[in-house]
Amino acid sequence: MSEPPDRLRDPAPNHPPEHLRDATLSARSFDPRAVDDPPARARAVVIGGGIVGASVAFHLAELGWRDTVVLERGRVGCGTSWHAAGLVTRTRGTHAQTEMAMYSRDFYAALAARSGIDPGYYESGSLSIAQTPERMTELDYALAMARHHGLPARRLGPAEIAEAWPPVDVRGLVGGALFEGDATVNPGVAALATAKAAFELGVRFVEDCRVVGLRREGSRVTGVETDRGTIECEVAVIAAGLWSPAVAGLAGVRLALHAAEHMWVQTGLVEGADRDLPILRDLDGHVYVRHYRGGFVVGAFEPEGKPRTLASIPPDFAFGEFKPDRRHFEPSLAKARLRVPALRKAAVEHFLNAPESFTPDGAFLLGETAEIAGLFVAAGLNSQGIILGPGLGRALAAWIDAGSPVTDVAEVDVRRFSPEQTTAAFLFERTRESLGRLYAMHWPNLQPETARGLRRGPLYERLAAAGACFGETAGWERANWFAPPGTAPVYRYSYGRQNWFAAAAAEHRAAREAAALFDLSSFAKFRVQGAAALGAVQRLFSSDLDRAPGSVTYTCLLNERGGIEADVTVTRLAPDDFLVVAPTTTQSKLLPWLTRHGDPAVVVDVTSALGVLSLTGPFSRDVLATLTGAALDDAAFPYGMGKRIEVGRALCLALRISYAGELGWELYAPAESLPALYDDLMAAGAPFGLRPGGYHALDGLRAEKGFRHWGADMGPADTPFEAGLGFTVALDKDTEFVGRAALRDRAAGPSRRRLVGVKLDDPQALLHGGESLLLAGAVVGRVTSGAYGHTVGAAVGLALVEAAPGELPGAAVAGDAAADPNGAPGIVAVDVAGTSVPATLSEQPFHDPAGTRMRG
Ligand SMILES: Cc1cc2nc3c(=O)[nH]c(=O)nc-3n(C[C@H](O)[C@H](O)[C@H](O)COP(=O)(O)OP(=O)(O)OC[C@H]3O[C@@H](n4cnc5c(N)ncnc54)[C@H](O)[C@@H]3O)c2cc1C
Repeated sequence: MSEPPDRLRDPAPNHPPEHLRDATLSARSFDPRAVDDPPARARAVVIGGGIVGASVAFHLAELGWRDTVVLERGRVGCGTSWHAAGLVTRTRGTHAQTEMAMYSRDFYAALAARSGIDPGYYESGSLSIAQTPERMTELDYALAMARHHGLPARRLGPAEIAEAWPPVDVRGLVGGALFEGDATVNPGVAALATAKAAFELGVRFVEDCRVVGLRREGSRVTGVETDRGTIECEVAVIAAGLWSPAVAGLAGVRLALHAAEHMWVQTGLVEGADRDLPILRDLDGHVYVRHYRGGFVVGAFEPEGKPRTLASIPPDFAFGEFKPDRRHFEPSLAKARLRVPALRKAAVEHFLNAPESFTPDGAFLLGETAEIAGLFVAAGLNSQGIILGPGLGRALAAWIDAGSPVTDVAEVDVRRFSPEQTTAAFLFERTRESLGRLYAMHWPNLQPETARGLRRGPLYERLAAAGACFGETAGWERANWFAPPGTAPVYRYSYGRQNWFAAAAAEHRAAREAAALFDLSSFAKFRVQGAAALGAVQRLFSSDLDRAPGSVTYTCLLNERGGIEADVTVTRLAPDDFLVVAPTTTQSKLLPWLTRHGDPAVVVDVTSALGVLSLTGPFSRDVLATLTGAALDDAAFPYGMGKRIEVGRALCLALRISYAGELGWELYAPAESLPALYDDLMAAGAPFGLRPGGYHALDGLRAEKGFRHWGADMGPADTPFEAGLGFTVALDKDTEFVGRAALRDRAAGPSRRRLVGVKLDDPQALLHGGESLLLAGAVVGRVTSGAYGHTVGAAVGLALVEAAPGELPGAAVAGDAAADPNGAPGIVAVDVAGTSVPATLSEQPFHDPAGTRMRG
């Protein structure tokens, strides 16, 4: 076969690694005056000179942090960055990551001009293909994501796929999605060019310099120790790839990431291999194929990955590779050969087996560690570090510069995991699954299958006996739904109504029409106590908490920019004793946060000590009355009050609140009393139709009420005004609370950027979160969370819009929203995987807007 004419012009030779080694592109080669030794002081120290560290340093420098040093134990790019396949595909599963990837591509496109080093950027586009109708639906959601962001993308049928990618065998394909403008780069050179660009802005790179210690004073980082001296600093960023847990461990911080072997093969010349072929992703075959120097690179995300312990990787591993594991890769290669028959005759010139890091939920780790102020992390890239590196570097630099997140980073926040999710045994087991998750079906409500059972509440066995199907959140096993007798509590996933739909509907109806019992024991719970407690909670939270003992306040924990770090319920148990209840995923960050900002009050994490049952529904009072002598009427026990009462055999703190938006009490009892409390309630509730409910039902209930879900509807980059929680902000209280200064300027008038309720007009259609909100066909917002509202008989959720009230044809009151000011109904719609479903917007909850059912 003759050599393709473009072979020599191919700008993306990421192999052999000598390309990088020989380039001696160390700090010295950037500038002969560059320092060789670590300086004694720097404002920021970035640990790790891969794509991520280089990007963080570049973006810090762009924001004026020129006094930044990058420390690299080997050479820039020598870790995992040099051996990536170099795919830069932009359409990701979430808006935040899509925006990061879009920025990354544009960054690479401009990188040669910025750095003087050509990173081999080439716009080939990418093509994902589907072997099943369900995968095609997943691609339809991806196409909707691309549309939302203005990315050129289109749906292809098998014949069009054959045209776009002639060497592919289209037999058995349902269709595909072509994403134009996606690109490839030479990853190692891209890391190097990024480093060079940072260097040009004043960042110093010190290679052959290993970090061996982290210095701190109290809970603040003050310096970085290396094998060649110590650097004092204000900020340290751990961007050490799969070695990050070891570096973080130097300061006692635990990270939830684990290494795995990751493989691709590079072939010799293949007929039909052309550099203009888009990157091919055969998701159902778990393989990707990209052009490479007249042949192909074939990589895999096999369903069962090969975790690799850190101890088994030599500490001086640089430009390294593991022994090829052909047996492990063979099934993937066989699938690639079926899909691209020309590969059958191609010689494998290079088999690359190399490490990459993966996290328990497939999203990377970003942000300031909970334990140590000034210590940041950017790691655990799940084989997307090239795609996301520039984008996440920009987001982290902005966070560091502003002191709090500036963009939506809740889904990748390093603080979202529990310490239990950082053990070697858990991570090893979970990583078998994490690698394959990249190309597995991304079903709504998908639950991990490996390493389950990490955190089981005291009711686990009882709920399981009642038919619970559990989901995992921060390691907790939580009942998501209850399978009716005779059916298995096992998910059957789909993009339509899943097999639990009817079960959740029954639980939902019980909560609205009778009574339901939800186990909410995974809530993060803290006691703030002592003479300084009132001052502490006044400083920590946005509402005025100097209220009578027994009062329950829904409020916000804000960062300095006024962003919501958690929405919480604070109960004043006594003048100097407060119970703080927060979302499950905030537990890890809250204890250090409350301790740091609440000092000198005593803060104790009582998450494991206290169980919580939410008894809610119109008969909840009747059920409770059979088990307690306490008066429960609205006068004696009004909404928003907490009291210690006996409930059957348990001594409870009962809070008159309900996330379902019904009459109800949250009952807090010692964990060891929870089984007795549950049994007594279930027995007493039987005549009233009480049944256990799961998180899917609760999600639908709260969505109908417009109650926000922290992490989805709002997060650290959103203010309470934007989240519709302005009522939690007491700007005039005596104490200067964290975030007040930032909020003061933003308090006047309604926010343009804000959440509104959304309901689909077609009762069959579903919302999974992330869908585009359209006004006359143009994108005006996105759904932040959605669930099925069985009371309103439609999918409901919340949507983030950029519009003043009145600009959108959403009514001020639920019910008349479909009528726009011009009288054209149905002009608002939601893009549900390519179908424009008419929708209704509302500033008010769709269910019980006046709140009378809950408040009495
Ligand atoms: C086979 C394969 C294919 C891939 N394909 C793609 C792809 O197509 N697209 C994509 O986006 N991603 C891909 N990836 C993933 C991508 O390579 C990584 O996500 C990315 O390189 C991570 O970059 P990083 O900067 O976090 O890590 P690294 O590049 O590993 O950088 C971390 C650096 O920290 C240094 N370091 C560690 N400890 C210390 C210490 N104590 N002191 C000083 N320095 C230290 C290391 O030497 C290393 O250079 C692939 C990965 C593999 C293995």
